[in-house]
Amino acid sequence: SRQWELVSRPSGWPAPEDFRLVEVELAPLAEGEVRVANEFVSVDPYMRGRMNDAKSYVAPFGLGEALTGGAVGRVVASHSDALAVGDLVSHDRGWRDVAQGPAAGFRRVEPVEGLPSSVHLGVLGMTSMTAWVGLLVVARMQPGDTVFVSGAAGAVGSVAGQIARLRGAGRVVGSAGSAEKVALLTERYGFDAGFNYRDGPVVEQLAAAAPEGIDVYFDNVGGDHLEAAIEVFNRGGRAALCGAISVYNATEPPPGPRNLSQLVGKGLLLQGFIVSWYAAEHGAAFAAEVGGWLRSGELTYDETVVPGLDRTVDAFLGMLRGENTGKMVVAV
Ligand code: NDP
Repeated sequence: SRQWELVSRPSGWPAPEDFRLVEVELAPLAEGEVRVANEFVSVDPYMRGRMNDAKSYVAPFGLGEALTGGAVGRVVASHSDALAVGDLVSHDRGWRDVAQGPAAGFRRVEPVEGLPSSVHLGVLGMTSMTAWVGLLVVARMQPGDTVFVSGAAGAVGSVAGQIARLRGAGRVVGSAGSAEKVALLTERYGFDAGFNYRDGPVVEQLAAAAPEGIDVYFDNVGGDHLEAAIEVFNRGGRAALCGAISVYNATEPPPGPRNLSQLVGKGLLLQGFIVSWYAAEHGAAFAAEVGGWLRSGELTYDETVVPGLDRTVDAFLGMLRGENTGKMVVAV
């Protein structure tokens, strides 16, 4: 089988030479283990952080070791009573074509008729749960709120904006990095307004799109977007700090928002979160609500599918550059 390994730790933007695809021999299955043929592997922004040798909420990738990440596949051999050949499973041994290990590391998921199994990485998986938890549990969005979502045409953002609308937000504003993506925000995902952050200062474009101010900010980007949100927040505003992709490849510590003193007079609450902290408590409610909206057609989603395990690094770098709309996945 084949797996991707990290050869060197990137400084700034990762280069293809930082990775290599290697052929490995699989050990015979031990008692209690399963072997899974991956159908889709996920590429995610957080993986960039794991390529650094830095203390974080998740350990760094090891040099010369297989990379890991979200994946979905079919059990092709089983030495466990917990999983049978043919079961569809979601797990964290991505970046390879065949995964194997103790059955407890693989979670059985129900195939959804008419939809590819990749939905378990995106709209029914981790990125969608991030949107749901961030908006409703962390930022505690209330009906009538004006909500701003950055990275709004991506996997998390496109779902966050739709959940805001479906949960009764008064106005939903999104930002993205191209005219095509901004058009999708209003035409496909039901945002009330959108802007291209490359067209001019974010703070000016946000103030124009949300003339009455914002109450909730779902932050996927950090940097100038966070500073703009603080500037435009109404009193009592809440931000869910989900990610800061604008600084993931920075080689110097990025400057903080220059207007943090506004937190005092506006009574703002800015809270970071990691989705996995909330899975046990809120996973079932998330799956029921978002699954329902998906079946009823009230919620839509996009995926950008890159074919071939050998193109996983291209997909990862492409995602960091904004080549995806919705969830970026690799079809193995
Ligand atoms: P996306 O599908 O949104 O893909 C990343 C997108 O980021 C690109 O498509 C690009 O879109 C945008 N981007 C890249 N560089 C910049 C930049 N300099 N400024 C603004 N936008 C940029 O990825 P995900 O939906 O998977 O993740 C979105 C965010 O959520 C990330 O910050 C990620 O780290 C975070 N996250 C956090 C989790 C948590 O538990 N806290 C869990 C999952 C994700 P464009 O063309 O618009 O620039």
